[in-house]
Amino acid sequence: MKPPKFDYHAPAAIEQAIELLGRYGGDAKVLAGGQSLMPLLNFRLSRPAALVDLNRIPSLAYIREQAGQVRFGAMTRQRAIEFSPVVRARVPLLGEATRWVGHLPIRTRGTIGGSIAHADPSAEYPAVLTALEGEVVARGPRGERIVKAPDFFQTYLTTSLTPDEILVEVRMRAMPAGAGYAFEEFARRHGDFAIVGIAAVVAKDGARCALARLVAAGAGPVPTRLRAAEEILEHEGLSDAAIEAASRRAAEAVSPDTDIHASADYRRHLTAVLTKRALTRALGVTRV
Ligand SMILES: Cc1cc2nc3c(=O)[nH]c(=O)nc-3n(C[C@H](O)[C@H](O)[C@H](O)COP(=O)(O)OP(=O)(O)OC[C@H]3O[C@@H](n4cnc5c(N)ncnc54)[C@H](O)[C@@H]3O)c2cc1C
Repeated sequence: MKPPKFDYHAPAAIEQAIELLGRYGGDAKVLAGGQSLMPLLNFRLSRPAALVDLNRIPSLAYIREQAGQVRFGAMTRQRAIEFSPVVRARVPLLGEATRWVGHLPIRTRGTIGGSIAHADPSAEYPAVLTALEGEVVARGPRGERIVKAPDFFQTYLTTSLTPDEILVEVRMRAMPAGAGYAFEEFARRHGDFAIVGIAAVVAKDGARCALARLVAAGAGPVPTRLRAAEEILEHEGLSDAAIEAASRRAAEAVSPDTDIHASADYRRHLTAVLTKRALTRALGVTRV
């Protein structure tokens, strides 16, 4: 199918892009990699009056370390993240999750900002942002604001961005040296969206569990931090029994829906299986 008619703008600066969004009073859409937006337009599920293309704003693409965080310009391509030495060294969970995102041509065009702003509950990046206690920087006519991940994702495909704001930066807390990590997911075919995905980060202090972060994708309307499961590990350590108990608790904590891809019960079952798998593998990952 073809998209409906729209005005097209390709500003060369962020301020111009914000001005254009304001001019259309909420009836314009930002175009990043187009990997989610173009299908929505072609199916006529979205009919904006205009597209504001960010692809001619080079200052929106970068990966840098600052203040204990790794910061990504919104237009950083997923493929650049896949090969970034900074990502590999400081937020390797994100690097691992990236390999689950679609196929190579999709990652070549798709951006981190687009994935986070699109807020598909099955997507990998929103789950990783939540697990790494990240935040985003939104810029609009009223200036800039920083929004933490749990306040950003509101429900299916809905964030706290206003229609005249642009997500300009994504920030993730650098992982502690020595932390283990794993991203596990189940999808029907490689490259499909996850039916359920689990992001896990763990750090040991002798026999103790010094840190546990667990987040489920695809098991509710937003990425779900599995705090009750984390607490089991933090109190009981990382024994097989504790991992088993945490995985059961993870399945109880999620509120998945039934849809054409899977039933709620199946998603709950997958949450337990994948939590156990992710924790077990995270424990085996050693980093210097
Ligand atoms: C076949 C296929 C398989 C895929 N599989 C996966 C998968 O397994 N996992 C996964 O996570 N994704 C998957 N995707 C989606 C892909 O990762 C997209 O790249 C991503 O969802 C959106 O990023 P984008 O840069 O393409 O954004 P776009 O499609 O350009 O934009 C998406 C939405 O975000 C808004 N937006 C984009 N950038 C900004 C910004 N800076 N500020 C404010 N709003 C913004 C747009 O207006 C639009 O509403 C798949 C896509 C396809 C076509």
